[in-house]
Amino acid sequence: MNHNSLLRLSGFVLLAGSLSAPAFSQAPIRITADLTDAPRKLYHAEIDIPVKSGPASFTTPEWIPGNHRPTGPADQITGVVFTANGKTLPWRRDDTDLYQFHVDVPSGVTTLHVHLDCIVLSRISDKLAVLEWEKLMLYPANTPVRNIPIQPSVTVPKGWGIGTALQPVGSYDPNAKVGGTTQFQPTTVEQLEDSPVITGEYFHEFALAPEISPKHYIDVVSDDPKDSNLRPEVLAEISNLVREASTAYASHHYNVYHFLLTLSDVAGGEGLEHGQSSDNGVEELGFADARHQVYNADLLSHEFTHSWNGKYRRPETLYQTDFHKMQEGELLWVYEGMTQYLGNVLAARSGLKSAAQYRDILAASAANLDYKPGREWRSTDDTAIAASILRGGNPAWANWKRGQDYYQEGELLWLDADTLIRQLTDDKKSLTDFLQIFLAKGGNSGPLIVTYNRQELIDDLNQVVKYDWAKFFHDRVDLINPHADLDGITRGGYKLIYQDHPSDTDKMAGGGRRMAGPNVWYSLGLRISAEGVISDVRWGSPADQVKLAPGQRLIAINGRTFTADRMREAIDQAKTNKEPIHFLMLTEDYIKPIDIDYHDGQRYPVLVRDNSQKDYLDEITTPLTEEAKKAREQSATHTRSQSE
Ligand SMILES: [Zn+2]
Repeated sequence: MNHNSLLRLSGFVLLAGSLSAPAFSQAPIRITADLTDAPRKLYHAEIDIPVKSGPASFTTPEWIPGNHRPTGPADQITGVVFTANGKTLPWRRDDTDLYQFHVDVPSGVTTLHVHLDCIVLSRISDKLAVLEWEKLMLYPANTPVRNIPIQPSVTVPKGWGIGTALQPVGSYDPNAKVGGTTQFQPTTVEQLEDSPVITGEYFHEFALAPEISPKHYIDVVSDDPKDSNLRPEVLAEISNLVREASTAYASHHYNVYHFLLTLSDVAGGEGLEHGQSSDNGVEELGFADARHQVYNADLLSHEFTHSWNGKYRRPETLYQTDFHKMQEGELLWVYEGMTQYLGNVLAARSGLKSAAQYRDILAASAANLDYKPGREWRSTDDTAIAASILRGGNPAWANWKRGQDYYQEGELLWLDADTLIRQLTDDKKSLTDFLQIFLAKGGNSGPLIVTYNRQELIDDLNQVVKYDWAKFFHDRVDLINPHADLDGITRGGYKLIYQDHPSDTDKMAGGGRRMAGPNVWYSLGLRISAEGVISDVRWGSPADQVKLAPGQRLIAINGRTFTADRMREAIDQAKTNKEPIHFLMLTEDYIKPIDIDYHDGQRYPVLVRDNSQKDYLDEITTPLTEEAKKAREQSATHTRSQSE
């Protein structure tokens, strides 16, 4: 679409244009990112900034979109040298804004040259590297970043391939893997920050869903040569993901889309959305087989969905015109929560996971929220507002504190809304009708940011079906709710129950997880490693009543050394013999006996079918496109013939 037609839409704010070739009067900044030292954990940049003489201030990014917190790596930026006409210039860091550098530009100077390095300790290995541009960018401070033109180049080790949504100047064959320097077309600082680059020795680029325009690719790098050559089954599923998203969201807001995927046990996990690409990092074998794939299944669909929900449609308080002002998290239960819902649904529709796996993972997530005592004092709204101080951190007492619950709370809320729309309209409409309004306003476009507020969600939902959506949101988001919103699951035709053995999905995935301890969260109330180290104690649980604490270690159980199997056996025995379970507890260097009087057996969450209700979960996970439907039928036939 063109920008003018978008501006005509009432209530819309146009914030960024399709800027692959911006028409700016000023010359662009030129930046060359040198990743040839990536195996040594160092990136370098050479930057030429057009300037006027006099005092000038430059900055590196602080609030990184998608991170929802100030993660710009100012502390890792080093070797900063400003020069003009070959002469080194003095600089001074701002006293209160540590991201800013002040320089006096001598008269007659029109271009300032800056060299800087960044120490990079994650998303990097001996064989691959990911460049998120906040690591190297420096640009004029206090200026809207969409107004600063910049022309990027990237230098990579010889023989490494490059994957990015940036458009190369001239022809570029990613599969030729020549290494050296690639020059890209000019863009803006806002768009460059949104356009990461992955590079690696073992690189493959695959085209996806070739009949769909604009074009979609997945670029893969790995530490082991065999892993980046993804299985044909996975590529078919990702192609179906592209088809399913195109249908469900009825629009695109990019000129090209690149899934960027790293497979590495040392480069770290990642999932960061961008408008025209996504930075996805999983373990080396993350997509090697079904067992590893199950818990990575929604990563690509989640980050892809963000191109619509998060990048194109952005909460008005989360968008800032530069990367300096705080991004406010209030509507993250939409930005992340609806994406969490859609990411899981689309993973099931496209075959990246099965409908049964979808239900098992939903059960685990719903149970986790329902057994979260922190909800007695903290609303979901507060988990979103406080997002920037809730990410990561120590798991100790995390259940009493609550974490970034707006992801999973949002998933349950939007499932509730989806099943409610289906019921209220006698199955004539669903959340898809809302998505096709909310995410497709203005039709197709290049990369754009269009902001919204809670009232727009309410108005768009009312276009689908009249209901008190303001109260619907208020009750679930703003109020204290001691229990999770399970209405979408029950209306969807299932009940959340606790059984004495793990779900099939948990059993399958458990084998692929390192360090997994026994799951006794819903029985004793402990998160515990395979070695018996306690990371969290559930508030109000049997373990809490005997005053166990995070950091302690269970070293013996019923007179024998602790193992996960003995823990499960002891819980089973206590159910029948009604004896307390005896533990020896190591606290720092003190050992003491502890008895837990618990007799309700092992408990694991699972969804069971309620035949008195319509199976909406089945309808919701049914593909919308013929290609994905066909693939699902073939896989069902394949599974049947295998089990026969
Ligand atoms: Zn997300």
